[in-house]
Amino acid sequence: MRRLGVVGGSGFYHLPELAESEGIVIATPYGAPSGDLRLGVIGQTEVVFVPRHGPDHSFSPAKVPYRANIYALKALDVSHVLSISAVGSLRQELPPRSAVLPDQIIDRTVDRERTFFDGGVVAHVGLADPFCGEFRARIEMAAERVNQPVHPGGTYICIEGPQFSTRAESRLYRAWDGSVIGMTAMPEARLAREAELCYATLAMVTDYDVWHETEGDVSVELVRGHLRANLDTSAAILRSLGGSGLPDRNCDCGNALARAMMSPPDRIGSDDCERLGVIVERYSRAPAS
Ligand SMILES: [Zn+2]
Repeated sequence: MRRLGVVGGSGFYHLPELAESEGIVIATPYGAPSGDLRLGVIGQTEVVFVPRHGPDHSFSPAKVPYRANIYALKALDVSHVLSISAVGSLRQELPPRSAVLPDQIIDRTVDRERTFFDGGVVAHVGLADPFCGEFRARIEMAAERVNQPVHPGGTYICIEGPQFSTRAESRLYRAWDGSVIGMTAMPEARLAREAELCYATLAMVTDYDVWHETEGDVSVELVRGHLRANLDTSAAILRSLGGSGLPDRNCDCGNALARAMMSPPDRIGSDDCERLGVIVERYSRAPAS
């Protein structure tokens, strides 16, 4: 089963294609998702949409219910998650309105629920490559098909926010070879990996962050105009992706937990089973050896 989950970022609160669909209210062991989920079809692809910041943009980056969102997508049989995010650029060659498909993340967040495994079950999933390579390649192809070139690769610096960076921080992130800077890829990528979902971020550049000497300093006004243009671009790429369909899952994302759980599956208690629910469902059902 392949089904696309879309997590809409700033400015991306609904999908016109799913406007007629009824909102699905899902309760998860981690609370309620950011908003009702919408289920529909784009092209030949079944899609579930959730607005990351809520339909009225009421969740700040640190307060987004990341675990509930990923859990809800998993519960609705999603296999691939496309995260659409507004970002700042740390590179001259990535001007505002660029689309980037990062392949790495540096996590600078400090105060977020970053794992499903914080109770009686211990798991250490691999995160060396936090984004799914196969899925990224498919998105890149979909973008090319509608003449919306994306920059394949780059490092996403994820900061805690909600304030933007200082100039010294921005320069530091450039020295770390960061490409774009945002506030939401983490812990989303961590949780998607724990949930064994293929995950990719379409990072849409709204500004040059504050390292840039000749551009004006980043402000909400400056960002808004680019946000609107980026909305059209990301929607076009998403429509193209829906038309081409999702790739086969030859990657390792779908088995991320297979060798990651330190606690033997037959020792997972009923409380933990209930809390982890669909995240460990296929393992906790395995017969005891
Ligand atoms: Zn994958």
